[in-house]
Amino acid sequence: MIILFCESCDWLLVPCTLLAFDDTDSPDGMCTTYLATLVLEELADFDLIGLPRLVRLNPNIPWKTRGNAAICLPLGRGIGRGEVCGSLNGSAIRYFPRGRQVDPTELLSRASRVLEKVAIFECDKTNPGMVVSNSRPPPSLYWKAVRGLVSLKEVEKILERSGAVWKKYKSGRGVIGASAAMSWRPRDRTWEVIAYRAPSRWGTLRKVDPKSVIRMDKHTKMTFNNYDYENDHVAITPGSPCPILFGIRGDSPAELLKAREMIRGEEQDRWLMFLTNQATEDHIMERSVTSLRKWESARVRVHVSAPPKTIPGGHVIVRVSDGTEIDAAFYEPSKQFRSVARALLPGDQVTLLGSVRDTPRSLNVEKMAVRNLVEDVRKVRNPVCSKCGKSMGSIGAGQGFRCKICGSKSPLSAATYRKFKRTIKPGWYEPPISSRRHLHKPIRRMSKVDIDKI
Ligand SMILES: [Zn+2]
Repeated sequence: MIILFCESCDWLLVPCTLLAFDDTDSPDGMCTTYLATLVLEELADFDLIGLPRLVRLNPNIPWKTRGNAAICLPLGRGIGRGEVCGSLNGSAIRYFPRGRQVDPTELLSRASRVLEKVAIFECDKTNPGMVVSNSRPPPSLYWKAVRGLVSLKEVEKILERSGAVWKKYKSGRGVIGASAAMSWRPRDRTWEVIAYRAPSRWGTLRKVDPKSVIRMDKHTKMTFNNYDYENDHVAITPGSPCPILFGIRGDSPAELLKAREMIRGEEQDRWLMFLTNQATEDHIMERSVTSLRKWESARVRVHVSAPPKTIPGGHVIVRVSDGTEIDAAFYEPSKQFRSVARALLPGDQVTLLGSVRDTPRSLNVEKMAVRNLVEDVRKVRNPVCSKCGKSMGSIGAGQGFRCKICGSKSPLSAATYRKFKRTIKPGWYEPPISSRRHLHKPIRRMSKVDIDKI
């Protein structure tokens, strides 16, 4: 389902001071969303003006840490009635519909001290950045950062013009993601409620009762990606040793508050609700095969040009074309999605969504629509010679048959053919829940317009 963003209640038009940061995590430790809770703890004398934002950026850039997530906290002095969006140390966190701006320099100096305490600076890939501003960078920065590449130089130019203050650590690349998160103006959006573990449990096995996850999944209507029934796998808990206990995603913040309470397991030390661009497919661009560029994610309309091949490792490769050919790769982690790829035949028309890989040049498929299927007609028997009564042999591809004894010929149509039932139907296909990326828009979230536009 798509909820169009209301122009009249865009809280970002409401004055606030935006504090954003990125690239503070590492593949096996701190997590940027947890830092958000620590920063809110430190800045408890300020108010949230709207929900914290969790913004995913281009998933294909090679130097990202984990999920390429950046955080933006709209802060200030709240006006009006606050609503609960989290809990820290037993007290409720509230966000306000309106507020007054505060001094960016003070916010930066206090919040950066928290970052310096916890960021994993030893990790090569961790290059934190923190930005504070009373005005929002243009939305074009977000679109470039979610779909392509942005340089630190161009971002710093934008920040200078908008009067922002910022801090860089190591290469300072985190400033790019932080600024992009600030510039996000939702067109489509979802929410995620994240519960965190008590620090004493970090790195130990997470205790979340799978039955309670299934019950929550069945009793909520607007949450998604909770439980992978195909692989019997709880999908709300991360696989990494980070502080997150679980995260539930959905299209209704009110329902997510109830969903969180339905999960049984170890103690939820703290929790926080985020407004996010997850499951929006904002990273995807309409492209032709010739215009595909590395590290981008695209949607192409093609036909299958050769039979699918399974290569070592269990990956399925399908040669496709829209006039220009490319290999479409369905990688092993996409599990059952590969069996749909294997069922394709030359001539089938498909729309593929995926990320571009440069060497070997291929499209890593994340979602597929089958638009049209050819008939699966296969030859089951060669013709029999009317003179000799023996089975005839093929002359060559597309050239008919000849009797090996008397030399008489028969056309291709003389053989016996049988039409086999196709094992797949036209429609949308996607990988199972546990192998989807953060920006993947689940089919159940697609509008009728999305579904019909294949
Ligand atoms: Zn013959």
